[in-house]
Amino acid sequence: MPETIVDFSKLCVHTQTNKPWNLEECIRNYASAGIHALSIWRHLLEDLSFAEIRKLVADHHMDVVSLVRGGFFASTKKKTRDAALADNLLAIEQAAEIGAPLLVLVCGSDPAQSLELSRDQIREGISKILPVAREAGIKLAIEPLHPMYAADRSAICTMAQANQMAEQINDSSLGVAVDVFHLWWDPDLERELIRCGKNERLFAYHICDWNVPLKDLLNDRGLMGDGCIDLKQIRTWVEAAGFSGYREVEVFSD
Ligand code: ZN
Repeated sequence: MPETIVDFSKLCVHTQTNKPWNLEECIRNYASAGIHALSIWRHLLEDLSFAEIRKLVADHHMDVVSLVRGGFFASTKKKTRDAALADNLLAIEQAAEIGAPLLVLVCGSDPAQSLELSRDQIREGISKILPVAREAGIKLAIEPLHPMYAADRSAICTMAQANQMAEQINDSSLGVAVDVFHLWWDPDLERELIRCGKNERLFAYHICDWNVPLKDLLNDRGLMGDGCIDLKQIRTWVEAAGFSGYREVEVFSD
């Protein structure tokens, strides 16, 4: 039997994939499995100091790919929008402290107002935090979410919308995070990935699979190969768009 060689050099795992684990467990367990890149979900920062996190990351030769997540800019209430801005500024600071070069944005939506108005507020919110992000050396990535989340999680549902917003704001620190769970169904995906790549805005690539049937809209993502997403095809497009970064495994599952 020929030995199977597994290349983990481009593999990154989102801590939320291993939900019961704290940050220290994630780092230790990934490293001992030969995985040396992770994207960190913000609530896991609470248990440790920034210095402790930096030491754990360095000791285990981990690459911190991104901090997840900022955003949620849209609301009918000004107070809520202001609180979101403050939280995003905190997230930028946290990313800088832990050495994460990228903050992923789940942009938000409020069912009490139109999607157009939510998108205006998202554009305004991103524009306000961008100078601070740029100054801190942190990039921001708009993550378009599947339209089933349009009511309350993201008024940005397609690559075309994410590309359009990034082009309108037009700042080299702003790009797009591509997640196959949210985008696999889109007939314009190939074209929009290429457009994003041409703009040099394809900042992150998240992978998992779409289980059939999908038993929970949030927490029933499949492992790659278990569902119906043509991952090889999408990867070909992502690579054709010039992306050569990590493949980030992000599986929410109970
Ligand atoms: Zn994602």
